[in-house]
Amino acid sequence: MVRAIYPGSFDPVTLGHLDIIRRAAKNCDELIIGVLNNKTKSPLFSVDERVELLQSVTEDIPNVQIRSFGGLLVDFAKEQNANIIIRGLRAITDFEYELQMAQTNRILSNGVDTMFLVASNEYSYLSSTMVKEIASFGGSIDKFAPKVVCDRMYEKYRSYMRS
Ligand code: ADP
Repeated sequence: MVRAIYPGSFDPVTLGHLDIIRRAAKNCDELIIGVLNNKTKSPLFSVDERVELLQSVTEDIPNVQIRSFGGLLVDFAKEQNANIIIRGLRAITDFEYELQMAQTNRILSNGVDTMFLVASNEYSYLSSTMVKEIASFGGSIDKFAPKVVCDRMYEKYRSYMRS
């Protein structure tokens, strides 16, 4: 049985992430999306909000589960009995960091391998950071994130403007 983990910040989940989730889910029995609870970063969405948004946008994919985690990814993978880590590769700029992470995690875990899915052309430029930046300036993000995410982002930035 192939049980894979797709880890990330997902702050927020974009159409690029969702594309990787759908393609990865087709190629494994169970896909666990690991939402990183990184205490040193200050995300726009809390970890609970990010989990909830991911649940909402993946509800039609039966073999996907969403969990949050802190600490080392390899420990989380072990706890979840996962044998594969999934990552998306957008451009050459992702490559160096991803290569280092994949090699380190393989050594730390005694053999959990990372598999890369190459970003689809239409999403290869897309990042959560860019989506947040556009929304913060009042731009439309409808082409970049699922509708439920866009609505929550607009709501969040509107409430910042009021306060
Ligand atoms: P980011 O903040 O860069 O969007 P995350 O930490 O949430 O990233 O990303 C989790 C994983 O999803 C990483 O492997 C990242 O390379 C991948 N990813 C992010 N955006 C895309 C995209 N548009 N297409 C394919 N993979 C992506």
